[in-house]
Amino acid sequence: MSLAGLSGGGELGEVPYLRPHPGAASVFARRAARFEALAPGHATGEYLALLGRVAAAQRVVAERLRLPALAPTLAGALPLDAAGPPPPAWREALRLLLGELDGLAVPAPAQAALERLGRLPDLDLDGLAERLLAGRSTQLDVPVGLFAGAALQVAFTGLAAGLAPASVARVEEGCPVCGASPTAGVVLGDHKLRYLVCGLCATWWHHTRVQCVLCGSAAAVSYLAVEGEAGPARAEACDGCQAYLKLLYVEQGPQLEPLADDVATVALDLLVGERGYQRLGVNPYLVAGEGVAEA
Ligand SMILES: [Zn+2]
Ligand SMILES: [Zn+2]
Repeated sequence: MSLAGLSGGGELGEVPYLRPHPGAASVFARRAARFEALAPGHATGEYLALLGRVAAAQRVVAERLRLPALAPTLAGALPLDAAGPPPPAWREALRLLLGELDGLAVPAPAQAALERLGRLPDLDLDGLAERLLAGRSTQLDVPVGLFAGAALQVAFTGLAAGLAPASVARVEEGCPVCGASPTAGVVLGDHKLRYLVCGLCATWWHHTRVQCVLCGSAAAVSYLAVEGEAGPARAEACDGCQAYLKLLYVEQGPQLEPLADDVATVALDLLVGERGYQRLGVNPYLVAGEGVAEA
């Protein structure tokens, strides 16, 4: 895939590569409201409601967390590194998050995870964060992974919000701010522009439509949806590399919030997974794991 291919402006003129970051508190406020709105009557309503409470706590933490200014980025390096050691602020984000969730009615495994996280020394916490960021979440207790991931999101999102969009260089793969694989794509109603969304730092970056995000193939992509489902989600599945990315269409869901709507449309992931496609990026609110207590 060429760098020029990423702009895809064409007759629409110059398409901004990054959408302006709304700020961490706004991101989580919007997400909390969307989780809450999606929960009633949904097959996984209880989990969506729990995530609504987690996102509301993330908003409060985002407002309180003090973050350092990022050092100027060297040429060719990303401002943040989702694959490297976690930013130290994430531990402070976790402490604030645990305080915010304290006393809230949560299921017993979630309560146990909150208590365990509160007791872990810094070194173990950083090891946990590194495993999560490296995608080795199968070694994690699921609720531990959920809450630690929520704290990492607040730190990365807050740091990303402080960047000037013009200071972020185009990249060929992954989030241009932190390098994580996109969680989902959002297709805007007006000009059918597609932005990819980072589940870690909440950056939205433009990517040409109808083209596999992983291998660049246009010929091998097809679109899958759950039959009879009129919601905003479709999977862009690629027969070239067997990867898929979930797309969320604003036209079909004007109120959608990509991370929340991704969780609410997990039935589509099951369908696409059964056909042998691998999901491109993870959603931190959907931690895969074995439920074993190994934090
Ligand atoms: Zn990112
Ligand atoms: Zn592909």
